[in-house]
Amino acid sequence: LDVCPSATMALLKDNFTGDLRLWNRPDVLTCTSWKAPIIWDGTFDPDIAQREVRRQNLTIGLTVFAVGRYLEKYLKRFLESAEKHFMVGQRVVYYVFTEQPAAVPRLALGPGRQLRVEFVVRERRWQDVSMARMRTLHEALGGRLGREAQFVLCMDVDQHFTGSFGPEVLADSVAQLHAWHYRWPRWLLPFERDARSAAALARHEGDFYYHAAVFGGSVAALRRLTAHCAQGLRLDRARGLEARWHDESHLNKFFWLYKPAKVLSPEFCWSPEIGRRAEIHHPRLLWARKEYAEVRD
Ligand code: UDP
Ligand code: MN
Repeated sequence: LDVCPSATMALLKDNFTGDLRLWNRPDVLTCTSWKAPIIWDGTFDPDIAQREVRRQNLTIGLTVFAVGRYLEKYLKRFLESAEKHFMVGQRVVYYVFTEQPAAVPRLALGPGRQLRVEFVVRERRWQDVSMARMRTLHEALGGRLGREAQFVLCMDVDQHFTGSFGPEVLADSVAQLHAWHYRWPRWLLPFERDARSAAALARHEGDFYYHAAVFGGSVAALRRLTAHCAQGLRLDRARGLEARWHDESHLNKFFWLYKPAKVLSPEFCWSPEIGRRAEIHHPRLLWARKEYAEVRD
């Protein structure tokens, strides 16, 4: 049995009380080389994390951007499914960033749950909408969001929850394994390779390819992450560059330099188009089909 910090260790700090018998996934990698847990179905006890979050009276933020046609197409389902599956029984504050506040669906939220709508200007290109998230999140984390929440998950809107997404995911910094790439050899991973870019990784660099559709952590850690990525994006723009996968490339550079404290298996953000995989027991969040013609100009 590989000794790796428990999935709940980051919350429990020194008084780990978890049950090691839960480590029953010999079929997958459950620990990184820097001893961060990679959490898979069956490697954690959701009740331990639930109790710990309640004991510490934590508020968990969930940020999502819904700009242009993404709002009408995806936001309602994302929020409705979050009400069913995201941090159920905890204090939650949703932050929806949009240029169309009046079009945000009015949902009846569960007890202890709030939704805030934040105005953003609409960037012209979809890539710019995606990249502008880092700077906007950085500002929000330095403002009300950062005062209201202790942990925050930042997500794409073009997905919906299908299973419990609870406090077991929380840690100081949290990265999501990309569903399409977690089985690929490192040298093939789609990191930015142009050495002039702030996001560049050399052939021998990179641990995993992380998906920008889900990342999170403590407010302080996310302030550092968003500052780093926003700065990289600014530097590239000043040189007339745009990294291969936009903000995701800069996120991957950040997590190479500053390792995540917890890694989520692809079950936490799965693409149904991949089909069945033996190691994927229980997908919790599913990507929507890429209907780019409908949402991108
Ligand atoms: N987004 C948006 N409007 C846009 C482009 C992007 O609201 O015009 C937001 C939305 O939350 C979306 C995220 O930025 O999920 C990332 O863009 P997208 O999902 O298209 O990127 P991909 O997942 O294909 O990399
Ligand atoms: Mn997306």
